[in-house]
Amino acid sequence: MGSVVAIANQKGGVGKTTTAVNLGASIADAGHRTLLVDLDPQCNATVALGLPKDGSPNVYGCLSGERSLPAAVIPSGIENLDVVPSTPELAGANAELPRIAGSEATLQGSLGDVRERYLFTLLDCPPSLGPLTVNALVAADKVIVPVQTEYFALEGLALLLDTLSLIQRELNPRLTVAGMILTMHDGRTRLARDVEREVRRHFPDLVFNTVVPRSVRLGEAPSFGLPVLRHAPNSAGSAAYLRLAREVAARG
Ligand code: ADP
Ligand code: MG
Repeated sequence: MGSVVAIANQKGGVGKTTTAVNLGASIADAGHRTLLVDLDPQCNATVALGLPKDGSPNVYGCLSGERSLPAAVIPSGIENLDVVPSTPELAGANAELPRIAGSEATLQGSLGDVRERYLFTLLDCPPSLGPLTVNALVAADKVIVPVQTEYFALEGLALLLDTLSLIQRELNPRLTVAGMILTMHDGRTRLARDVEREVRRHFPDLVFNTVVPRSVRLGEAPSFGLPVLRHAPNSAGSAAYLRLAREVAARG
């Protein structure tokens, strides 16, 4: 039975999409069937896989009740990795969903048999705690929280963890935190090392051992429409996400 994993942090630019795309490609590379669902109207994950952002089918159709999630799946071009692309139209769901009672569970209701088809279904969330992220957290079994190792890293994490507890209590008792992944880490700076220590001290059991380094190859891979594993297989960024994939798979 597969698991559904939301990649969430209401902060923008912390590495959610980079983690969703590259963790997804790395799990797929290990031979596990993986689905990446782009839940951000900015469509960054869709574009990072070389797909157009105005294509159909897309995830908006699943949130508006037109089709189930499995019916919106397309191949990513990477073996074992499928994708449900996003569209800028998805921004409309932020206004539409709250008007419908029980709409927090719309995505969950559209999952169908994804857990039978895929060992991992990764949900790339937008940078907010709005209706799209809530839908992801209600549909998910686990959350991975990317944390950028910079000065305000801890800020906002308390709010995120409160939100996760609330959703656990009210809407999705299955939800657990799979872990926090430190991203864009520049080990040469004292600040990054201090932040890493702080985050590990605050959340001793939650932080993955793997740390994703700041890497030019990781940053530029989306402009080639490829995961870093394909764009620069021998880079440090590629190695980090392969390591993270092993940790995530080991935690189940
Ligand atoms: P989010 O989805 O949380 O908004 P992104 O994954 O899109 O964050 O990352 C923000 C920006 O930083 C993007 O331009 C991305 O390519 C870049 N980036 C992310 N992780 C790294 C990294 N480890 N090294 C270098 N650039 C990165
Ligand atoms: Mg993103």
